[in-house]
Amino acid sequence: MLRITMSIPQTSGTTPAPRGHVAIIGGGYTGAIIAHLLSERSHDSLASITVYEPRETLGAGLAYGNGDVDLRLNVAAHRMRAVPGDPAAFIKWLDTKSRLTTDPGSITRGGTFSRRRDFGLFMKDLLQPALESGRIAHVRQQVTRVERDGSTWAITRADGQVDNADTLIIATGHASPKIPDQIPASLIRSRRCLPADRLETMIGEIAPEESVFILGTGLTALDVVASLRSRNHVGPIHLVSRNGLLPRPHAAGDFPPHGTFERVEPTALGLLRHVRSLTAEAEKNGLPWQSVMDALRHQGQAIWKQFPEPEKKRVLRHLRRLYEVHRFRMPPQVEALLKSCGEQLITVSRGRLESVRDIHGRLELGIRRTKDPRHEALQVDRLVIATGPDSSNLLDYQKLLRSMRDSGYLVPDPLGLGIACDDHCRAISAAGLPQSSLIIAGPLTRGTFGEITGVPEIAAQAVAIADTVIRQAGVSRRTISITR
Ligand SMILES: Cc1cc2nc3c(=O)[nH]c(=O)nc-3n(C[C@H](O)[C@H](O)[C@H](O)COP(=O)(O)OP(=O)(O)OC[C@H]3O[C@@H](n4cnc5c(N)ncnc54)[C@H](O)[C@@H]3O)c2cc1C
Repeated sequence: MLRITMSIPQTSGTTPAPRGHVAIIGGGYTGAIIAHLLSERSHDSLASITVYEPRETLGAGLAYGNGDVDLRLNVAAHRMRAVPGDPAAFIKWLDTKSRLTTDPGSITRGGTFSRRRDFGLFMKDLLQPALESGRIAHVRQQVTRVERDGSTWAITRADGQVDNADTLIIATGHASPKIPDQIPASLIRSRRCLPADRLETMIGEIAPEESVFILGTGLTALDVVASLRSRNHVGPIHLVSRNGLLPRPHAAGDFPPHGTFERVEPTALGLLRHVRSLTAEAEKNGLPWQSVMDALRHQGQAIWKQFPEPEKKRVLRHLRRLYEVHRFRMPPQVEALLKSCGEQLITVSRGRLESVRDIHGRLELGIRRTKDPRHEALQVDRLVIATGPDSSNLLDYQKLLRSMRDSGYLVPDPLGLGIACDDHCRAISAAGLPQSSLIIAGPLTRGTFGEITGVPEIAAQAVAIADTVIRQAGVSRRTISITR
């Protein structure tokens, strides 16, 4: 029996033109999981799936590409529900690779907190079969420009080659951290001041006894502390941010999310009150506050949709940092590290960096502490900028996105969190219209969806995007059997 597979365009009047060539720009977790789902679900009905990603592997991106074995996931491994339809895939992979034996440090009272690098390797393995079979192509190139070319998109790569695609998915992820204006460019060049995202390649230059000032007190700052300490750093480490708030710890054991936000008053104050009342209720029931934050996270997208824009702005202005330190919690290994170091080695404080000067090869930092308005001068050997990805300059920090904004294909969302898109992730043009062949994915869509940073939320969005793209391709597969 000869089986012939034919791709037949749908003929309904409203069906868009076939869109069989799909290009994904950015192959971090977001781009990689979308490519995987497209390859699994399209049953070869798409002409091609190409991921443009300069990094060596797909799925690693900013979060999981760092080779430092001391950087841990900030949620327990069983919560990394990375593969839709197979929520335990990562746990099974850890088991198959005997990671619980080779990495006993991953097991803590709060669950298994694996190495971030391992999650990157897991994603690499997930994508490998489709890469080998050619169902997914990985082009190791930065994309520098995208333009409309009739009904397709012309994609210019850093090597000058131009490819065409019918559907374009922007998954370029996190922007670089903002370099504060106070830091002269010459100090960045001299490598005395380092952005945290370049630390992996530069950390060897920091001598163990040097004093290090870390600007920022979030998870990125704690990554820097973990990396330094794993290299036996003994010099003083100062962490400073405007609010001086560290990510909170995880609670021991497993517990269900507590509370519903269905009827929350859609105001910043209403939300805060509701969280407080649910927390008191949870505690009465013997549940930790973390159970309420987990419920808030799970219902985050639905809550965000209910809030009018002025209240969203109020939430961002007044509650964002508070939310982040409770939502993005530190891995138990880092909690233990901070406890063991004590204040002689690591200090955390509130303050503002006002000036940075080079004094004979050392740095003199002008700081205004929140508790003491006098100007303080602190001499250190290094300054690490660990303020985290800067979403406010998303359409400015790289050539591709700048050019797409200048051409009117992309605009920032009204809250300045990412790129404007509708509920189907279709990019909104400068003319205010959704573009069905231009899709925005992952944390870039924060303005529309609110809570879309963690792996499970991105995975759920990836399903919706993959299904839309396959549907839009306007191609239905028909298998015709010819009996000879
Ligand atoms: C340090 C860190 C730790 C995290 N830890 C966890 C965790 O433990 N658990 C959890 O659930 N979530 C975690 N997250 C959040 C979450 O997993 C990330 O938000 C997610 O990985 C986002 O992936 P992304 O692909 O959208 O972005 P990114 O990881 O930023 O990847 C974007 C990719 O796009 C590529 N790219 C950019 N521009 C171009 C271009 N012009 N051409 C070609 N390629 C381009 C980049 O090279 C990059 O690889 C973490 C996030 C960070 C930053």
